[in-house]
Amino acid sequence: MPDVHAFLGASNSKQWLHCPPSRRLEEEFPNESSIYAEEGTFAHSLGEYKIRRYLQETVTRPESDTYDTEEIDEITDIYAEFVITVIERMKRNGCEPLVRVEERVDFSHIAPTGFGTADMLIVGRDEDGRGLMHIIDLKAGAGVFVDSDHNSQLSLYALGGLHEYGAIFPIEVVRMTIVQPRLDNISTFECVREELEEWGESIKPIAKLAYEGKGEQCPGDWCRFCRAKPVCRACAEEALALAREEFMDLDAEEASLSSSSENTMEGYERNPPVFKHPGLIPLSELIEILPSLSRIASWIETVYSFISAEAVSHGVPIPGYKVVEGRTKRIFTDTDAVVETAMQNGYTNLYKQQLITLTEFEKMMGKKRFNELLGGYVAKPPGKLTLVPESDPRPAVEPGSDFEYIPE
Ligand code: SF4
Repeated sequence: MPDVHAFLGASNSKQWLHCPPSRRLEEEFPNESSIYAEEGTFAHSLGEYKIRRYLQETVTRPESDTYDTEEIDEITDIYAEFVITVIERMKRNGCEPLVRVEERVDFSHIAPTGFGTADMLIVGRDEDGRGLMHIIDLKAGAGVFVDSDHNSQLSLYALGGLHEYGAIFPIEVVRMTIVQPRLDNISTFECVREELEEWGESIKPIAKLAYEGKGEQCPGDWCRFCRAKPVCRACAEEALALAREEFMDLDAEEASLSSSSENTMEGYERNPPVFKHPGLIPLSELIEILPSLSRIASWIETVYSFISAEAVSHGVPIPGYKVVEGRTKRIFTDTDAVVETAMQNGYTNLYKQQLITLTEFEKMMGKKRFNELLGGYVAKPPGKLTLVPESDPRPAVEPGSDFEYIPE
């Protein structure tokens, strides 16, 4: 869940820890919600509802015409089942755990104004009888793989949890889990309490810089959600430098430029940029620049979206460009009138019948009965093949090879 109104929040900590001035730089840009954020918020409410129901609390199922889908239901089932397993295991370890759902945690002793909302905070015992605090975070998205290993967001939740409960319970070990069902990712990182507290101390100076808006701007994958990104000079310089390094022969270009001191268009024409690959680029060399390409592409996309929004939403004129309407499909303006008119004129075959979905069957029959009756007819077709970085947790598959690009 986003840490609403936290200047130094846990969910944006990766950003301010790597680029301390970014939170102040963002302040002048509106914090606009996206459909992904709204879907994530609904998924958290549904997950919360399922866990509270297990805890036998009186709760009402949240509703949403847009986001209450089969997929979100499945995602929150996986999350709730994981949480319930953790609680049940602690009970088997001989304790009645403290269970907090959507717990607001305060870590302002580490980062000024710092607080956040931990999806789950559970305190009990581990298999060896040691005092254990388990933080669990649901990630409903599939855009970016989130690893629990030394994850700053979960670590800050845990520090807030220790601040609140560390004096009451003899917590020795901290476990932090990310549940990201859309990427088949459930990963847990464990450390001893002292390690976490040392890390907390180590980031205090960075948090102070971030609060004051000081320090160096530093681009990286944490820029993804920074609202200052479209106009961030450090990002622009990095993307343009990457493009230059990857595509230009800088030694040849320097030699060419040193033969002319002119910095004019005419000079540019006499000393055009020298490309590394004037003809075709071998696949092996394209592969080498792949990581840089995604950084450059992400920056271009951000800048393009920002300028488009300025033109489309705020009417800012962009020389050489214009705003046009996209293509649309025809729609009926009054479906009741359509049905009535068609029927009156003898057209009666107006509706299609559709089989209910797999999840709807499961809800109707219950999981056990569904598996008994229809389990044998369920299969999971293979997904569309996608190229991802090696760090992605999904197992690699053997791709087909219809076409291979081997340039001379
Ligand atoms: S976009 Fe700029 S200001 Fe924002 S995190 Fe990246 S480098 Fe820092």
